[in-house]
Amino acid sequence: MTAIVYRLAQERRLVTPLPGPKSLELAARRGKAVAAGVGSSAPVYAVDADGGVIVDVDGNSLIDLGSGIAVTGVGASNPEVAAAVADQAARLIHTCFMVTPYEGYIEVAERLNRLTPGDHEKRTVLFNSGAEAVENAVKVARLATGRQAVVAFDHAYHGRTNLTMALTAKAMPYKTNFGPFAPEIYRMPASYPYRDGLDGKEAAADAIDRIEKQIGASSVAALIIEPIQGEGGFIVPAPGFLPTIVDWAKQNGIVFIADEVQTGFARTGSWFASDDEGIVPDLITMAKGIAGGMPLAAVTGRADLLDAVHPGGLGGTYGGNPVACAAAIAAIDYMAAADLPARARHLEKLSRSYLEKLQADTGVIGDIRGRGAMIAIEIVKPGTKEPDAVLTKEVATATNNAGVVVLTCGTYGNIIRLLPPLVISHDLLMEGLEVLGSVLRNKAGHA
Ligand SMILES: *Cc1c(COP(=O)(O)O)cnc(C)c1O
Repeated sequence: MTAIVYRLAQERRLVTPLPGPKSLELAARRGKAVAAGVGSSAPVYAVDADGGVIVDVDGNSLIDLGSGIAVTGVGASNPEVAAAVADQAARLIHTCFMVTPYEGYIEVAERLNRLTPGDHEKRTVLFNSGAEAVENAVKVARLATGRQAVVAFDHAYHGRTNLTMALTAKAMPYKTNFGPFAPEIYRMPASYPYRDGLDGKEAAADAIDRIEKQIGASSVAALIIEPIQGEGGFIVPAPGFLPTIVDWAKQNGIVFIADEVQTGFARTGSWFASDDEGIVPDLITMAKGIAGGMPLAAVTGRADLLDAVHPGGLGGTYGGNPVACAAAIAAIDYMAAADLPARARHLEKLSRSYLEKLQADTGVIGDIRGRGAMIAIEIVKPGTKEPDAVLTKEVATATNNAGVVVLTCGTYGNIIRLLPPLVISHDLLMEGLEVLGSVLRNKAGHA
């Protein structure tokens, strides 16, 4: 098995208060040059990153529990990925697969056809972003079924383009004042065991009943869902919810799209979260963790669906760029060689046991959930299930300022999510958790 080697010292090291003077200078320049609509979670500006650390312009070394939003599972400067990128860039950066094609695209497609759930005949098409993959999965489903309606779920996040904004559930900040949105999108209740109290079969029956009454199964082209909802709050559906929905979709000729943009590529302890549920999606959308940080996205699925599209109906100038493909091949091979799915399961054990103790000590953690290296805490007012978004934001900000990068999420803004690089060391993860824990103990008044 490939051993994980680090180039930078794997340590939290603060040499200035955060943000330091050079980060503050860059923030001032940014304010005059970069659109205000782009936000950043942490106030520091990065110059170097490796394994579980990000080094900023002032020389501070931060613990990374975000992976650039579940992207750099193999590390942010994985040596195999960096070498593959440099080698490919020295020879050919772009020709456009739609003009003069190249082998790397085919190799990525072959790997994804093999790795994704199900042993049926598959095809793959490559894009640049998760939103673009989702848009194209919906295009394929509509064309192949001759139907228009698309079902999405409460707490869903599928991107920021017009169609994917329509599919995304949360108004602020993703949708507010950006309408009108694409038509023929219908939203159904998802399974949220901590809040709805339903078992998987009950939650699925409710959603199916509403689809049948409000849309009619024969009008539905596709049903799209994240097997673990990411931005919505790391919501793991109750057991049985997804298999019931998938069976019903198959019986009704509805294309089931698993959006695994955040959950894919070893993050949940399997190659895909669909594997954990025992479901086989008709189409699966992928991006984030696919290429060690290079922009690449994919739709993989049933050959009969993807081959139904007329030649020229799918594509894009940059989709499946040669450098991004070289990175994906190196990243996927590394994930297999270093057995990153097993590491994700190990990171889950460490995080859960620490967070369970923190939950008992503080009384403000309503729920600990997720899978693999995708674990979150839901922060509530003590003794209730009332979301505490204010405390959540305070804790995240203070944790970032103490040199540990964490992200928030959730429909109610009260989730702190942990997405460490899968290659983070045991000691560094534990230190990151302890910093988060001591901030939470302080702010929750149980120091
Ligand atoms: C991030 C994300 C997207 C959008 O991906 P982009 O690359 O940001 O366009 C879509 N679906 C899910 C589940 C995501 O987490």
